[in-house]
Amino acid sequence: MDDRYSRQEAFFGIGKEGQKKLKESRVAVIGLGALGSVTANNLARAGVGFLRLIDRDYVELSNLQRQSLYTEKDAAEALPKAVAAYEHLKQINSRIQMETVITDVNSSNIDSLIEDVDLIMDATDNFEVRMLINEACHHHQKTWIYGGALGASGMTMNFIPGEDKPCLCCLMGTGLSAPGSEPTCATAGVLNTTTNIIASLQCTEALKILTGSDAARTRLLVIDLWENSFDLISAVKDPQCPVCGKGEYEYYGKLRGIQTTSLCGRDSVQVVPEHTANIDFASFAAKLENLGKVSRNAYTLDFDNGQFQIKLFKNGRAIIKHVTDEKRAKSIYSEYIGL
Ligand SMILES: [Zn+2]
Repeated sequence: MDDRYSRQEAFFGIGKEGQKKLKESRVAVIGLGALGSVTANNLARAGVGFLRLIDRDYVELSNLQRQSLYTEKDAAEALPKAVAAYEHLKQINSRIQMETVITDVNSSNIDSLIEDVDLIMDATDNFEVRMLINEACHHHQKTWIYGGALGASGMTMNFIPGEDKPCLCCLMGTGLSAPGSEPTCATAGVLNTTTNIIASLQCTEALKILTGSDAARTRLLVIDLWENSFDLISAVKDPQCPVCGKGEYEYYGKLRGIQTTSLCGRDSVQVVPEHTANIDFASFAAKLENLGKVSRNAYTLDFDNGQFQIKLFKNGRAIIKHVTDEKRAKSIYSEYIGL
């Protein structure tokens, strides 16, 4: 016996019983940026027994203003966020189990990421992935907690399966905005206080849900920290909702070919091949050496020919920098890495 969790157990809503439930809980954190840093940190310290840390990206200097788990050293080494997060968190709580997954979350892998957990924390930065999470969670009857932040405003909502409970699609429909038509964190900026508060609100709800409390919020919370507004908005189920009303999915279960995604404000395009590979960096580096500068660590291989840069991950996914056109990114991928 020790007093690691004594302050949490002393709180009436948790107690020793609640603490035991947290220890037995399994949570997937999707995205380890600003929201995910805070979420993974809070849940690890709170003693959630298993955390799956999922992120597709690596640490950069511009992340450090708000992505509170990471250091300048992580950015200098361009560590994958999942790896950097794991390394920091295991020094914070060595008693919990953690698993790192360096991947882009898509319809081909979401089942394996969520089917063996009790709760999914949304810490992503785009609605396409959230729609996929929403549909996959409806299919598997899993609870997930949505969170989003931009500038000084943010919102969060618990999505719990149930006959009378709304899903994300009930609230927002399935229509996604055209790329470039909505503000992003790169164009509109974001305060670290906004992401800290939204993620902390999500985590408080996670503690309630995992301990079986009946205090979990049922409404959408929308905040604007600059305007000092905190609004709770009623959310009702839409009987005509394609997802939870009819079970028709637009993202989940859809097989896809090679995928390209322009990365928010980054002058970069991500390329995800249809099949996962396990690339041998040593032999691959030898092939690319005559074409440009090559460097690598255990997780990524970097190639720079002066016009564009390729950051290649072990599973075949690549981020191509100084390219904004997705077709061009695909052709660079096919030329230098091969499809
Ligand atoms: Zn719905």
